[in-house]
Amino acid sequence: MEILNIQDWRISVGSKPVIIAGPCSAETEDQVLMTAKSLVSKGIRIFRAGIWKPRTRPNAFEGIGSIGLQWMKRAKEETGILLATEVATPEHLEECLETGIDIFWIGARTSANPFAMQELAEAMKGMDLPVLVKNPVNPDTDLWQGAIERLQIAGIERIGAVHRGVSSYDPGPYRNVPLWEMPIELKRRIPDITMLCDPSHIAGNRIMIESVAQKAFDLNFDGLMIETHNDPDQAWTDAQQQINPEQLDRMLRSIKLRLVHPEGISYEQLDEWRDKIDELDIQMLEILLKRMEIVNEIGRYKKACNMTILQPERWNNVLMKNIRQSEEKHLGKDLITKIFFAIHEESIRKQTEIMNKKEPG
Ligand code: PEP
Ligand code: MN
Repeated sequence: MEILNIQDWRISVGSKPVIIAGPCSAETEDQVLMTAKSLVSKGIRIFRAGIWKPRTRPNAFEGIGSIGLQWMKRAKEETGILLATEVATPEHLEECLETGIDIFWIGARTSANPFAMQELAEAMKGMDLPVLVKNPVNPDTDLWQGAIERLQIAGIERIGAVHRGVSSYDPGPYRNVPLWEMPIELKRRIPDITMLCDPSHIAGNRIMIESVAQKAFDLNFDGLMIETHNDPDQAWTDAQQQINPEQLDRMLRSIKLRLVHPEGISYEQLDEWRDKIDELDIQMLEILLKRMEIVNEIGRYKKACNMTILQPERWNNVLMKNIRQSEEKHLGKDLITKIFFAIHEESIRKQTEIMNKKEPG
């Protein structure tokens, strides 16, 4: 069995990114072979295709099933491309191992389900192939981390995370809300994890894929999993978000890659700015502390006067005044709003504590 080093997935543009491309679903033998061949001609080394599709409603196309694995196998035999597919059950896994799938991914509906994750993790025990875990459909970083931990406990060493956005009643211009803070936080908790982005499912349309992909690289992602089909308009699933191999190639060429620590540059100026920022952060904390001390005073006073903690008019004035000032000073209104909501929440928390503290005796 070919052993893949996670580092070896890095391919294509520059030296860094892992690019996994291929259709949402395997549909026909021709579609699989044609797409894989064009991708190989563009330098792509990992092919994705969904064999079993977790569809939201029944009666939609639920994947071609086992026969599709044979088509993928043939694509590998003819081109040498590595194969990735989604597994949701131990039975899927077994069939994939028999066929020679190289990389597995666990879908967003499965990573949201600890029972399914546990079953899969146990079935994967002793397996030495990479596994990618998509974030759960709901915005829950702990659940995502938990799914990864179940695989770690099962001894899987090469684990990657795939950020595919989250479901929302109102996803705005996206299909799935990106919530970039989730992958940023997961990477902070598991610094060694390979972090990929699936811009196709975040965007949900062809137009926004590139900007989502660029954003992922600007946030230091390691690569992309991107839905690519030889004839996207005719795709049986997710047609509106699939691109063809030429479009993928053009997109990858126009994406800019940046490094966390570029070599050969002077860090002196950067260090100087960072020292200033550190100094300002200290001042900011001191000011916050002073502000909180006054909040406590007010809390004790309100308690003595039997006055409510929330004073709606005062709170509205504070918020509006600061928003107005932020606009005059061209500081982001959203930022100031978030900061003052957080400060106010903490003030209420502190005053509630004071108000409800039982006096001795
Ligand atoms: C997919 O990648 O085809 C897929 C079904 O994605 P997700 O699990 O992220 O919805
Ligand atoms: Mn899809």
